[in-house]
Amino acid sequence: MFLEPHFKGQRSGWIEVICGSMFSGKTEELIRRIKRARFANQEVAIFKPSVDRRYHRQKVVSHDENEIMSRPIQESEAMLTVSEDIDVVGIDEGQFFDQHLPEVCQELALRGTRVIVAGLDMDFRGKPFGPMPDLLAVAEYITKVHAICPHCGNLATHSYRLSADESTVVLGEKDLYEPRCRACYQMGNILDLKKHADVPTDSSAQDQSGFLFEE
Ligand SMILES: [Zn+2]
Repeated sequence: MFLEPHFKGQRSGWIEVICGSMFSGKTEELIRRIKRARFANQEVAIFKPSVDRRYHRQKVVSHDENEIMSRPIQESEAMLTVSEDIDVVGIDEGQFFDQHLPEVCQELALRGTRVIVAGLDMDFRGKPFGPMPDLLAVAEYITKVHAICPHCGNLATHSYRLSADESTVVLGEKDLYEPRCRACYQMGNILDLKKHADVPTDSSAQDQSGFLFEE
């Protein structure tokens, strides 16, 4: 489990990245860290790319009732307008932000802000996703979380797309994707999906967003 670094004297900023496949619990981990910061009376701002309209325009509640308010923004630079009083900036679905995200995070960290970004490290093709690889390179702390492969029970690192839609930005509907380990991902649609239809996919480890939009 990630434990926040101790700091003495003047606060200095840093970048944490929580990455992994779909259904790996990235958002839950982000929420956990943010709730701990809030409990310590730290000022928190949470952002999400406005492209993520998975659940509802303004209001989203995850199935496990783990929820928190977030602000949808179009461009990552919008985060630089946050007040200097903000101690922690949380960012969900980092992969959908533009390529300026790493520099924006670094700018915030230089100001003394703790920046926590959750996002998919790979898209459904198994390729590094959007600004995430650059962000991983400059982050102080990286936590890679895993789902469980429903076919073999090994750790799942890949997000396998069950639909034929070729657009990368098909947002995370759970019936469109399943987490797979490297070997099962490579097998593609050879795997008999029906055979596994009774595998419960509704566990709390799912990466359903627990964020509420603020307008
Ligand atoms: Zn597998």
